[in-house]
Amino acid sequence: MRPQSLTPLFAQVTALPGIGPRLGKLVEKLAGPLVVDLLWHLPFALIDRRNAPTVAEAKAGDVATLTVTIGEHLVPRNGRQPYRIWCSDQTGRLCLTYFNGREDYLKKLLPPGDIRVVSGKIEIYQGEVQMTHPDHVVPLDQRDSVLRVEPVYGLTAGLTQRPLQKAIGAALERLPDLPEWQNAAYLARQRWPSWKAALAQAHAPTEEVDLEPRHPARARLAFDELLASQLAVALVRHHNRTLAGRSTKGDGRLQARARASLPFELTSSQKAAVAEIAADMAKPERMVRLLQGDVGSGKTLVALLAMLTAVESGAQAALMAPTELLARQHHATIMPLAEAAGVKLALLTGRDGQRQKKATLDGLADGSIQIVVGTHALVQEDVEFADLALAVVDEQHRFGVHQRMALSSKSHAVDLLVMTATPIPRTLMLAAYGDLDVSKLTEKPAGRQPIDTRTIPLERIGEVVEGISRRVADGARIYWVCPLIEESEEVDLANAEERYRLLQARFPGKVGLVHGRLKGAEREATMAAFADGRLSILVATTVIEVGVDVPAATVMIIEHAERFGLAQLHQLRGRVGRGSAKSTCLLLYAQPLGETAKARLAIMRETEDGFRIAEEDLRLRGAGELLGTRQSGLPDMRLADLAAHAELLEAARDDARLVIERDPDLNTPRGEALRALLYLFRRDDAVRTLRAG
Ligand code: ADP
Ligand code: MG
Repeated sequence: MRPQSLTPLFAQVTALPGIGPRLGKLVEKLAGPLVVDLLWHLPFALIDRRNAPTVAEAKAGDVATLTVTIGEHLVPRNGRQPYRIWCSDQTGRLCLTYFNGREDYLKKLLPPGDIRVVSGKIEIYQGEVQMTHPDHVVPLDQRDSVLRVEPVYGLTAGLTQRPLQKAIGAALERLPDLPEWQNAAYLARQRWPSWKAALAQAHAPTEEVDLEPRHPARARLAFDELLASQLAVALVRHHNRTLAGRSTKGDGRLQARARASLPFELTSSQKAAVAEIAADMAKPERMVRLLQGDVGSGKTLVALLAMLTAVESGAQAALMAPTELLARQHHATIMPLAEAAGVKLALLTGRDGQRQKKATLDGLADGSIQIVVGTHALVQEDVEFADLALAVVDEQHRFGVHQRMALSSKSHAVDLLVMTATPIPRTLMLAAYGDLDVSKLTEKPAGRQPIDTRTIPLERIGEVVEGISRRVADGARIYWVCPLIEESEEVDLANAEERYRLLQARFPGKVGLVHGRLKGAEREATMAAFADGRLSILVATTVIEVGVDVPAATVMIIEHAERFGLAQLHQLRGRVGRGSAKSTCLLLYAQPLGETAKARLAIMRETEDGFRIAEEDLRLRGAGELLGTRQSGLPDMRLADLAAHAELLEAARDDARLVIERDPDLNTPRGEALRALLYLFRRDDAVRTLRAG
């Protein structure tokens, strides 16, 4: 149950003065439906209205608050003229100007002979001191309400500052006194204000420094948010650990057979990852482990060896890929190894025929199929396992958290291994998953050569085509990725088709085209022709981004590289350099290049290290965009900025860890306070895992 004291903050925003149904909708769009959402909507700027000169002292361009006596109204005779009102103090004359001003309204607002306090930007127009559309006009007794520093909030169309400021002011008045949830010693060391004081300060900046993320009030609020999210993740994890797990131990017999069939040695990070996963699986608790490794680092093999451990123990394993293409590819990669190990492997996708599908489902249900590779078809209701011990999910950020959970709930106590080819920067990892166990593949398999990456202006595309003609003659395999014009598949497709025609004219019979609209079978046929060398050039939209594995491909050409994100460029480049031959990546760009695009291309030239690239990407883009916040299950941060508050994130992680160690059910006084914090940040899901909650 949510503490009573929080109730006023969980009212609809329309409960605030001045926010009716119409503005309510706008506020909801801007910040959220509830009063508490408005609290997190911090100002991004301020306007200092404390400057109160006489009319004679007022300087053009300044924001000033003037106290004047209202004089004559000059009502315009036609719509083109502005409405003017003369005012004055002892030192001079001020002209207030309104475009499209309504006489009745303005006469009431500014009655001739009365004194008014007006605030706005000073202009000097034809020698006259003027103010166009003052921001504030109030009677003298309300002068103090104007003569201050005003917070400036982000808006949405149809919503203006004044009602929003008023609503937020009213929301702040509803703030309850809550018991302190932060660690007392830490709070003292940071010299942070209380939560209530921090909110009040954050909404009432008086100088520019007050708007900075490092300002104590903002830092405290950011920490609160980070702590709530770290604690929530930690509680859920703690809860899952206490659920019945299973100990899955293999005898190494199948792994040994599969490894013996490999023409190469495992890299040392592959060996380490295999050992870490096996140790986790052997523990009686549930495993939740992330296998992170750059494209081509050999994750699939690690996953297979883990799955064989499950099979050795007499149970089953499943691998779920985000696309059909990838599922088929994993299946094809794993097939010879599974055969070598003598394990029954099946593929399950949405495209299977009825008969085949039934056979697969039966085999999974009776346990005769030991490993299954598939798409999200795996999590459908009709899929039952005899005894699923390990679920491997590839490219996790493409799945919702929900789907991931769905696969692991297919059987009791399933161990979960999540593989990602997108190196996730540490800060993001921590924010999204807290203390998740991670295995990293940091080396490329032996014998791989660095990729020669070059940037070339698009005007020289003719030279590029001539340059590859020699390679085509030598039988090289070349990817040609077409520009990402916009988020519209149709436009992107038109481009790919055009490029395909041009290249086909130059290299007849040697060029293939793949894109997302092609039927699976057609696409596979083209891919296969490319893989076995019947085609030399594969023109593609970004469908080849993930997972496509043709080790013989040595050239990657990306048109309009400036339009791609860093992570995407890195993924695409990772399609080459997978064999022992030297590979090239040509990034064709249109001039002029913007600053960010320039930085991205420079980083691409400089490094192939996916983790470094991911960090740079985070720096260039900001956290939310990097993974696609919602899909990734990454919490939406309102107050914390993962770039600016990285240290606070670590501190919050440590703090959450301590809390879980000492007071896992949040029963101490601090625990009680932390429950309120979780509710404040809407982590009710975490509170529900508490036994006494
Ligand atoms: P990822 O899934 O991490 O992108 P893959 O598992 O698809 O990488 O491996 C890429 C290629 O490298 C595959 O062809 C695979 O057979 C090969 N490979 C994997 N491990 C090694 C290794 N230790 N030495 C040489 N080649 C390897
Ligand atoms: Mg792979």
